[in-house]
Amino acid sequence: MKSKHKNPCYYCGAQACSNEHAPPKQMFKGFPCDSITAPSCDEHNSEKSGDDQAIVSAFLIPLHNRLEQYGQDEHSLEANIVKAIDVAKPSFVRAKRKATSRPLLSAPPKVLSDLPDVSYLVPSVDLRAWVRQLTAALVFDGTLAFDPTIIWNEAIAWSPDWIWETERPASGEDAILLFEKKGEIKAQLEQFSWQDGWSAHPRAYPPDIYEFWLCIEPEPQEVIFKHKFYNRYTWYVWFSASQETVLKLSNKVVS
Ligand SMILES: [Zn+2]
Repeated sequence: MKSKHKNPCYYCGAQACSNEHAPPKQMFKGFPCDSITAPSCDEHNSEKSGDDQAIVSAFLIPLHNRLEQYGQDEHSLEANIVKAIDVAKPSFVRAKRKATSRPLLSAPPKVLSDLPDVSYLVPSVDLRAWVRQLTAALVFDGTLAFDPTIIWNEAIAWSPDWIWETERPASGEDAILLFEKKGEIKAQLEQFSWQDGWSAHPRAYPPDIYEFWLCIEPEPQEVIFKHKFYNRYTWYVWFSASQETVLKLSNKVVS
């Protein structure tokens, strides 16, 4: 093969040999959109890990269960989400080895009876790492450079919409406290000044399926990405970057 990849990997800076799709192609199956890509080494190509399908399933299975339970009218999901579920459904069985969903509480109190199921991934599928990689690929795309000052493994990755097995509540009261705590942190983060991110070009990602925003702090040089998957799952990734990266990202979002 011709050495078309003289670029550094978007995540570790080693020589790239493939392209990482940000987010993975799997997420847009059935949608006529283009992709954002970044040069990648094998290790940091999420497609090669085989986890993309598990993560897409973990996001969609609870929505699918909800659709099955209530039908389309009661808790209307956007047409694009219903389409994404339809496309992904045949893979749910295969993904079951890595992604499963169950109700948050076996006997939920009335106030929580409306909760969607909660997904779990096996420990080998590192959702935090996956979201960090997505962020890193977007940073590369936005700056066209690898920033060695960003320590991606230490970037904070947090979601108000993901319940870890270890924080699974034992009772309805616990569940309410957990949601309150997550809601408070989310409310604080939402007060930051968010700027629209960008999308695939020329055919953009369907915003119902994926979109992102950035908050850029020039002093100290910090950046927060806010990702939204399937119009429901918000993930924040917070990291320090070089002055040049911060400047380039600022220019990218105003243009
Ligand atoms: Zn790499």
